[in-house]
Amino acid sequence: MRLFNSLTSRVEEVVPTHPDGVVRIYGCGPTVYRQAHLGNLRTFLLTDLVRRALEFEGRTVLLITNITDVGHMTDDSSGQAVDRMQIAVEDEGLAPPEIAEKYTKAYLEDSAAIGILASHVYPRATDHVPEMIELTETLISRGHAYIADEGSVYFDVRSFPGYGKLSGNSIDELQPGHRELEVAQGKRHHADFSLWKSAGAGRLMRWDSPWGEGFPGWHVECSAMSMKYLGERFDVHTGGNDLKFPHHEDEIAQSEGATGHRVVSIWAHGGHLRLSGQKISKSTGNVVLVSDLVEQGIDPLAYRYLTFQTRYRSEMDLSLDALEAADRGLRRLRQRMAGWAGTPPPAERSDAASGLDRRFREAVADDLDMPRALVVLNEAVSSAEVPDGEKYALLASWDSVLGLDLERSAREDVELPPDVQDVVRRRDDARAAGDYATSDSMRERLTGMGYEVMDTAGGTRVRRRA
Ligand SMILES: [Zn+2]
Repeated sequence: MRLFNSLTSRVEEVVPTHPDGVVRIYGCGPTVYRQAHLGNLRTFLLTDLVRRALEFEGRTVLLITNITDVGHMTDDSSGQAVDRMQIAVEDEGLAPPEIAEKYTKAYLEDSAAIGILASHVYPRATDHVPEMIELTETLISRGHAYIADEGSVYFDVRSFPGYGKLSGNSIDELQPGHRELEVAQGKRHHADFSLWKSAGAGRLMRWDSPWGEGFPGWHVECSAMSMKYLGERFDVHTGGNDLKFPHHEDEIAQSEGATGHRVVSIWAHGGHLRLSGQKISKSTGNVVLVSDLVEQGIDPLAYRYLTFQTRYRSEMDLSLDALEAADRGLRRLRQRMAGWAGTPPPAERSDAASGLDRRFREAVADDLDMPRALVVLNEAVSSAEVPDGEKYALLASWDSVLGLDLERSAREDVELPPDVQDVVRRRDDARAAGDYATSDSMRERLTGMGYEVMDTAGGTRVRRRA
C-alpha cells in the first residue's frame, strides 16, 4: 500500500520498520473538552481507512490514538492563553476528569457510529505525565531544551537544524507573536515552544516536576506516547492538515531531538471539511455533530460513504443535499445486497469478478483512491457478467475496508421475528408443494404484517416496508 508522505511530498510504500512485520500507526486523537464534529471525524476516518486498507492487504496493524485531556490551550503564543479544559470546567460545572470522561465516551460513540474500528490503545495524556517529564529531561540533557526562570521548559528550535522540514516554515520566517511576553517568559527565541509550563494561580490540573509544579505542553504528549507504545521508529503518523504546524513540526523536533534519528516514516495528513451555506445543524451553529445527522434521519455511515467520494487530502464540501444523496445511495446499495443474498456464489470466481476485485484493491492501495474504488463498486453492482451471488460475496469482502455495513438489510431480513419467519417457511413449503392458494394467502399475511415480499431463487425473501 502506498501513501502520500507530507514530509517528502512523495507517494511511498508503507514498509514496516519492525522485524515483526506489524505496521505501527499513531493518530492524533480527540481533545476531550468538547464534542468532536464532522470535520474532526473526517481526520479520524482517514486513520481508520489507513488501518483497514492495510488489514485488507493482510497486514497486522497496531494503532494508537491518544486522548488529549490536558495542555490544549486557546493560544499557545499568548500570555492570556487558557487551557480549554479549564473553560469547559467553568461552562459545565464539572471537574476536569468528569469532562474528559464525558467527551471521551462521546468520541468513542461517534467514532463507532461512523464505522471507525476501535484503536488498540487509547492512552490519556494525564496518565503519561511521568513519560513527558522524562522526555523533557532527555531534551534538556541533549541540549535541545532549557529551563526558563519561572519554572517553564522550552524547546530550543535553533538547536534542531531540521526544524521546519514538515511544514516548510523556516525559523527565520516565523514571526514573533508577543515579543514583550516572550521576553517575560524567558524564551531565547520567539519560535521556542513549551515542553513544560509552570502552573499559575487557579490552575486546576498540575503536577510535580523537577522544575516545580506545572503541566505539560500539548505537543510533548504525542512524542512521549507514540514512542512509548510504538517504539523509537514507527511507520505511519496521521492527523489533519491543521496539525502540521506547529503540532507535528514540534513533535518531530522533540522525538528526533531525543533519539537522534528519524522516528516516523510516513506522515499522512487529511484535508479540511468545509460546510456549505446550508444549515445542517440546529443546535451547534457552524459545526455539525453525528447527533445532528441522526436528528435529520441520516445514517451516520452515509457521512463515511460521502467522504469516500473525495480524495482524503483534498478539501471537501459538506452539504445537507450531499448527505441526503449519500444516505439514499447507501440504502439502495444495502437493498441490492439483500436482493442478492438468497443466491449462493458460484463455486469458482468468474473472470469478471476477479478483474473487478483486482481493480478495487489497486485503487485502495494507491494512496487510498476511494473515488476510484467507488467507480469499481458501481460497475460491480450493475455488471451483467457477474452473477448475483458473486456480487454479494464481492461487496461483502470489500466492506471490510469500506466499513459501510453493506450487509445490514440482508441481515435484517434474516433476523426476522419468529412469527414472520414461520409464515415465510409455510409459504415456501406451500410453493414447493405446488399449493399456490396457500402460498398467495401467506403472501397476503406477510404484507399485512408490514413486509414487502419478493420471490428469489433462494425462496421467499421479505423486507420490512420503509
Ligand atoms: Zn498529536
